[in-house]
Amino acid sequence: MNAPFAATTLEKIRAELAAKPTELFIDGKFVPALSGKTFDVEDPSTAQIFAHSAAGDAADIDLAVKAARRAFEGPWGKMTPAQRARLMIKLADLIERDGDIIALTESLDNGMPYMMARMGMIPGAAEQLRYNAGWATKLHGETITPSWPGEWQTLTFREAIGVVGAIVPWNVPFMMTVAKLAPILAAGCTVVLKPAEQTPLSAVHLGKLIAEAGFPDGTVNFVTGFGETAGAAIVDHPGIDKVTFTGSTEVGKLIVRNSTGNLKRVSLELGGKSPCVIFADADLEKAIPGAAASIFGNAGQVCAAGSRLFVHEKVYDQVVEGIQNRARTIKVGSGLLPTTEMGPVVSAEQLERVLGYIETGAGEGATVGVGGGRLEGEGYNSGYFVKPTVLTGTVSGMRVVEEEIFGPVLCAMRFGDDDLDTIGAKANATQYGLSSNIWTRDLVNALGLAKRIKAGLVRINGGPGLDPALPFGGFKQSGWGRENGKSGAESYTELKSVTIALA
Ligand code: NDP
Repeated sequence: MNAPFAATTLEKIRAELAAKPTELFIDGKFVPALSGKTFDVEDPSTAQIFAHSAAGDAADIDLAVKAARRAFEGPWGKMTPAQRARLMIKLADLIERDGDIIALTESLDNGMPYMMARMGMIPGAAEQLRYNAGWATKLHGETITPSWPGEWQTLTFREAIGVVGAIVPWNVPFMMTVAKLAPILAAGCTVVLKPAEQTPLSAVHLGKLIAEAGFPDGTVNFVTGFGETAGAAIVDHPGIDKVTFTGSTEVGKLIVRNSTGNLKRVSLELGGKSPCVIFADADLEKAIPGAAASIFGNAGQVCAAGSRLFVHEKVYDQVVEGIQNRARTIKVGSGLLPTTEMGPVVSAEQLERVLGYIETGAGEGATVGVGGGRLEGEGYNSGYFVKPTVLTGTVSGMRVVEEEIFGPVLCAMRFGDDDLDTIGAKANATQYGLSSNIWTRDLVNALGLAKRIKAGLVRINGGPGLDPALPFGGFKQSGWGRENGKSGAESYTELKSVTIALA
């Protein structure tokens, strides 16, 4: 099968990245870190270092925050909502124009299959911008009549919150970056964003497109670097009005603790350990591939991955066998190969973490039904490839059932003719509450369980990724606030009540 991209495009990207380190995008310009430091960027398919990026720290964050404040109080803040929307739509068009370049960069950097990036993430990112561009002209307050003696009228103003600090993870870097920017820009805020240290590259290309689209300097700033330095400086900075974070629950808690200096607003999209419940009456031809895709997609590095499988005992063997068969046939390999369905995990650290969990599960009494180790040898070039894995005989209380693994590892469990309260309690037996999947043809089971599940998203009988219109976020320790939809854009605004005495 021929590669679905031009080899010359890949060569050009590699040559550019090898020629010099990527720079920070601050105040509309590309600049090195003030310290002059850089860090290595590794291809997880080969474990080779193929690029270097500027290691921004507190001093660079400070410059970026000042630029963002100037843009907020200056040209960006003075634009009409319709002008902002037009720039956002222009950026969406540029992303589509450069879709091949961005998808290849993403695949090299993160390891995800090129086709997944090209056909899923690029159009998804463009739609995020177009959807949120619609909100730019539709965020508004209301009028209220107070019940005081006399004649009064109150208006609420919905005002942009100011400068936002955004911290994003490595699992779907480009899509996540654009999904953060879109509502921030729609609301009229400016932003300083830190990509993850494992995947800094696609944001650099986005910086070029932001400049080309004509956004005023300082509206969007990208500071690549480390969490402990650049990330911590965003959280600490008194000039930042809100932090939006996606990543681990552990770092989310740290951010809450460290953001109290100026009581900046905080929204958190954190980890998950999402249940996938398959009833005996489910359409198994759809449920089996759906459940497999939910855990093996992007090598399981998805916050909403369906990592805990609960199957009715009547169909348990059939479902687990079906998912295991799928696991055996998934084509694992470099994201650049046209046949690849699942790439490597992102780093040596993540590989060690995932393999460690598999070992822990086996030590706790789970059976490795399929997979259960690293893929090595010809074609794997020392990359961080994990076999798609199903653990059976898992029970609640095991670490593999309770903790987020963030890899292609499914824990399979069975249930009997339990009532919905009991099934719901099993599904909810985790600190997380981000997403969930239910497969059944029975409306009462479907909606009854949906009501009982404590999670921000319930998918009944499948459904592709996230839609920019659907609010998304966590119950319990999966986070604070909702992204996407109207509530996502409104979360970058403050409400002000303005009261007028009319008599
Ligand atoms: P982290 O939560 O550590 O990283 C997410 C982002 O936060 C990165 O940009 C990181 O920077 C930054 N960060 C780290 N420390 C700080 C800090 N002290 N202050 C501010 N920002 C900080 O995730 P990991 O990469 O360590 O992944 C570990 C686990 O987290 C995964 O195995 C998975 O379970 C979970 N995770 C969940 C995600 C989700 O979508 N919900 C996404 C990613 C991970 P740096 O670039 O230096 O890492």
